[in-house]
Amino acid sequence: MQPSSLAFQTKASDALADPNLQKALGGIKTGWQRGRILAADRLPEFEQLRDQARDIKNHALEHLDFYLEAFEARVLDAGGQVHWARDAAEARAIIQGICQDNGAKTVTKSKSMIAEEIGLNDHLEAAGITPVETDLGEYIIQLRKEPPSHLVGPAVHLTRDQVSDLFAATHDLPRTEDPTELVGQARTVLRQKYLAADVGITGANFLIAETGSAITVTNEGNAELTQGLPKVHVVIASLEKVIPSMEDAFTLLRVLARSATGQEFSTYTTVMTGPKRTEDHDGPEQFHVVLLDNGRSKMIGSKFQDMLRCIRCGACMNNCPVYLAAGGHAYGWVYVGPMGSVLTPQFVGIESAHTLPNASSFCGRCEEVCPVRIPLPNLMRHWREEQFKRQLVPSTVRWGLGIWGYVAKRPALYRFATRVAMAMLGRMGRKEGSFASLPLAGGWTASRDLPAPQGKTFMQQWKKKRRGGAR
Ligand code: SF4
Repeated sequence: MQPSSLAFQTKASDALADPNLQKALGGIKTGWQRGRILAADRLPEFEQLRDQARDIKNHALEHLDFYLEAFEARVLDAGGQVHWARDAAEARAIIQGICQDNGAKTVTKSKSMIAEEIGLNDHLEAAGITPVETDLGEYIIQLRKEPPSHLVGPAVHLTRDQVSDLFAATHDLPRTEDPTELVGQARTVLRQKYLAADVGITGANFLIAETGSAITVTNEGNAELTQGLPKVHVVIASLEKVIPSMEDAFTLLRVLARSATGQEFSTYTTVMTGPKRTEDHDGPEQFHVVLLDNGRSKMIGSKFQDMLRCIRCGACMNNCPVYLAAGGHAYGWVYVGPMGSVLTPQFVGIESAHTLPNASSFCGRCEEVCPVRIPLPNLMRHWREEQFKRQLVPSTVRWGLGIWGYVAKRPALYRFATRVAMAMLGRMGRKEGSFASLPLAGGWTASRDLPAPQGKTFMQQWKKKRRGGAR
């Protein structure tokens, strides 16, 4: 997927004017956002679990080489194969090779952000292999030829009405708005695809070093059918998914579902270890794990290492006022919301995504809800510094920030300047009480008036209060 993150502002404006999108995004607040609050309230040790989750991921990242080698050894012991991919091109070539070696014409896929990151579907199609998405949300966006707009709910930007129209136009069946019937239609179509698939491709929420297992969580059971029915199973996962033990996985799973959807546990949790054994009744004959780096090893030891703790729960976007207004597609690449604003510049380069670290009010909600306590605003701030250093912002902004920085570092000058500015603006706006436009404040006044200052500055009032004066 070609990044279009530089168009964030235009896309966000379009999103604000799209009533369907606004309606769909409104559901996140009453659904997942509220669900997380209730789930966290019901579990007294939730905050303690978040600390444990952070520590598990930090420990795994600090010993990543050790745990990756241990994971590979256990996969081999179980009869599987591990393929190391330095970048997206290598990962695509490896998966294409596995498919072609097995004469695959159709592959089923369960939801995988890594597959999105490497553009797997387009690549397989170009090689004459048909990929079929089996997660309901992914199935919907595949029909619409769109990228996902959310980590957990790829089609969260659509209303039920839009899905009804899509299914009526795609399936040879009467239009329905009944959710059960809509799911039933998708199930009928996909059941046939599961049975016809030669290869099943899944992602992994966690890779377990002590057993060589891959773990997926879903609410639809589609990962189970994707990995269990075809004769070949391919897991595509990035390096930082490896954690030491099954016990660690269960700690992380307890915070993952609660943070993502407010569930105590996802409906299906599947542990996949190696291919089918002689005593097994079913399962794949081949088990491949493709381990993708794609720049992650360079993040180890850098100021962005904390980002590798991410367990892709989506809580940061569910609680981000910018995401909830602009939706995921405005971010212009695979990863969206606050986590996308940190990760996208990492993967596509800050030159192609420098708008994203600015797509934040820095309210701090993302960090407050992140189950592995990633300091997202701080990481976005690092990118803003990088953007400034590389001169990616217009010179007027650079000059403005330079002057502001000079004044802000000199408290006496700052107080004097704000006193003068407040007095002048107060006098100029006395008649109307607000400004409909102001030079250098067009971004503010484009969509609302700026209230004219009244009375004294905060510092003047504070000083007076401390001296024991009236409030
Ligand atoms: S950054 Fe944190 S809150 Fe956001 S998706 Fe990752 S783990 Fe979840």
